[in-house]
Amino acid sequence: MASQMITGARIWDATGNPAFAGDVLVEGNHVRAISRIPGQLRREGSEVIDGTGMTLMPGMVEGHAHLSFEAVAATEDLITPPPEEQVFAAARGAKALLDAGFTSAYGASEAKLRLAVAVRNEVNAGRLPGPRIRAGSLEISVTGAMGDESRLHNPRPGGPAMIVDGPEEMRKAVRLACREGCDNIKLDVSGDPFYPNTPGHTTPMSFEEIRMAVQTAHAYGRKVNAHTRSVEGSKHCIRAGVDGLFHCEYADEELLDMMEAAKERIFVVPTVSLFHTIMHGEAARSGLTPEVGGYMGLQDLLEESAKTHTALRKRGVRHLIGGDYGFAWSRQGTNARDLKFFVDYYGYTPEAALICATNYGGLAMRAQGDLGTIAEGALADLLLVAGNPLEDVTMMTDANRLVMIMKDGAIYKNTTGAAQNRAAA
Ligand SMILES: [Zn+2]
Repeated sequence: MASQMITGARIWDATGNPAFAGDVLVEGNHVRAISRIPGQLRREGSEVIDGTGMTLMPGMVEGHAHLSFEAVAATEDLITPPPEEQVFAAARGAKALLDAGFTSAYGASEAKLRLAVAVRNEVNAGRLPGPRIRAGSLEISVTGAMGDESRLHNPRPGGPAMIVDGPEEMRKAVRLACREGCDNIKLDVSGDPFYPNTPGHTTPMSFEEIRMAVQTAHAYGRKVNAHTRSVEGSKHCIRAGVDGLFHCEYADEELLDMMEAAKERIFVVPTVSLFHTIMHGEAARSGLTPEVGGYMGLQDLLEESAKTHTALRKRGVRHLIGGDYGFAWSRQGTNARDLKFFVDYYGYTPEAALICATNYGGLAMRAQGDLGTIAEGALADLLLVAGNPLEDVTMMTDANRLVMIMKDGAIYKNTTGAAQNRAAA
């Protein structure tokens, strides 16, 4: 069995323990042993990776992955390209995430139903580089809501959502997504500022439809995640048993109480990057200037997001980082910017933001509790970072500082030798 010993690093295990100096032994795809006394573990037969002066931490988890979104500037970029091209984009997206230290991707939606399924299968077979993937589905929406681009004179089935009306059509759509291999079923529960007929505070999908989706997906052992910005939509999701809630800008006291009561069961992903980048002029070249964002009500959504998710943080609801990367102005692979957004918008300490990125993400990926921390017996998804991200989370966006990336016990990248040579020079 292949084994690696990482020596001399500052170990941050993402459990709330203070970082400590020590060695970590990886055997096969698991962490076999952790020693708090450097030099104690048996090294024979192990490849030794010198982590002196660096931080060893768990790999990060993108909590709302759109693998197939590659520099998307408009909805047409999801609908028009053929699947044969889009599968390559999804494969590039998977590689970009792993290159950026994301060893897991918790899927939101994809441009076509099987894109993430196909890439996940290739990654699992060792034929493509990429993170662990819970494959997201095509969105499921209802007539006239987000994702329904059809008009009477111009029907557009299949893009960028499956359109269902009523619980029976929902049951069929979810079963279809399960049959085709999706791990995560994505519902468009609330409206969205990009769809003026159904703005973010509206709730086009009914409770009965959501509940049917959850019952059906859970019967297949899959998860359901929801695009939900409205108060009513988020309450429907909690009552219906939805596993992951995306966005959740609007809230009232009752919703916050409901989320707190469900906090052992749900994960919440604020996805603040999309609106932040638009309102800070980063999407101007795509025509989405801050002025346009103002007309769309994005400033209000950002303010509501800060209020709601700060309250959820204080109530101990588990947030995941990431979300809606893959646009022309927020490229795939820049996802770790969310760590700083969590600090700035929601009052997270750097360490608590990193726990969202690792520990909580691991629990969303696998209920077994063996992913997202450094513990004996845990799956070996590890990063060696040149520097201390507990002091400055922004360094996690710098791929040059990710000197070692290990996924499932396999070294994907290792430039420790080069890094130490530089330090010595
Ligand atoms: Zn999204």
